[in-house]
Amino acid sequence: MKFTISLSDAARHTITLATLEAYVLGDGRPRRTKLETLGYLWGFSREDSKGTTHFHVDLMSLSISAKRSRNSVKPNDQAVRLKSELMDRWAPHLTLIGDFHSHTYENLAEVRDIRGFEFSDADEASFLDDDFLWERANDQPIMLAMTICKLARVHEKHAAETIRSNIAHFDVGEFRFWLNAAVGFLDASGSRRCTGNRPSNVKLRIDSRFYNYSRDRLVVATRALFPRLLPWELKFRAEKRLSRTRRRKCGNWHVQAGLTVGMIMTPRAHLMTCESVSDLTTRNINRHSYVPVVHDGGFGGLFFAERFFDATPPSGKISERVSAPEETLVGADASISRLHPRRRPKAVSARVRTSVTGPSSSRQI
Ligand SMILES: [Zn+2]
Repeated sequence: MKFTISLSDAARHTITLATLEAYVLGDGRPRRTKLETLGYLWGFSREDSKGTTHFHVDLMSLSISAKRSRNSVKPNDQAVRLKSELMDRWAPHLTLIGDFHSHTYENLAEVRDIRGFEFSDADEASFLDDDFLWERANDQPIMLAMTICKLARVHEKHAAETIRSNIAHFDVGEFRFWLNAAVGFLDASGSRRCTGNRPSNVKLRIDSRFYNYSRDRLVVATRALFPRLLPWELKFRAEKRLSRTRRRKCGNWHVQAGLTVGMIMTPRAHLMTCESVSDLTTRNINRHSYVPVVHDGGFGGLFFAERFFDATPPSGKISERVSAPEETLVGADASISRLHPRRRPKAVSARVRTSVTGPSSSRQI
């Protein structure tokens, strides 16, 4: 039986903020600082195929009505029921999965002397006795304890450090925080148990994934994810397995029967320009029916080249025979025209740049 516990950024922030405020400012009353505090945790849990249960704490709600002191914090049993009523309405997808409380100490030596970051016997006893929590958490609740003390100086740290798999600590300014996690479960006889302070199978994941494990590769999608390929997809994949030399000639790849990539896309390096009709018909060796005309850096219309496939091209410039964009597009592909219903034909100047091997979706096939 293994467990992992992770926290959302919001949950980690609010738990740390609550612990810090109760420690530094207390409850606002005179000489009432370094107080413990308490809150409830909502989130998710899921058991994976290997039997590890993953808990994720999505949010923490601080209990204002709990009775706080320097050595203990006593929950108001009505608080968790009241909050659950609201959460059932607002966030029914979340589960009450546990609670959190804080431990406070004067300094680092005090924490180390008595291992103040561990759960106390009273912590475990009250956790095991919390019927409402166990019922809501499906007999697998979690318990978090955050310990805080003030350091003599600020220590440079770059990440959280682990004491045991279920205990991590980190510094914020001159304060040090420890986060301890335990999981409750039912043993073979159905009695409540707690992983407690022993080395256990609880792994606390305090950090986001700023790191990578050795050989921890991301698994990419495989063909198994696409079991039902359309016929043209199968053909396209078969073409992709051709030799590298063949691959360079992308014009030979078939994206569907009779339609090649080369008919749809043209490398920029292959674009040519010409001005006369005869020049264009000579260069139009792929027999594109329509050739786009560029004017002032934009689309100026289409030249209907097909009419000269088997005829002697006339003398003169393309600019004198280019069709207005909307007029021509309706003939070549009405669906494109409908996308630009308000487009107006542009006047074509004497200088027209024409691409004879440009986009040729209008080619007759
Ligand atoms: Zn405690």
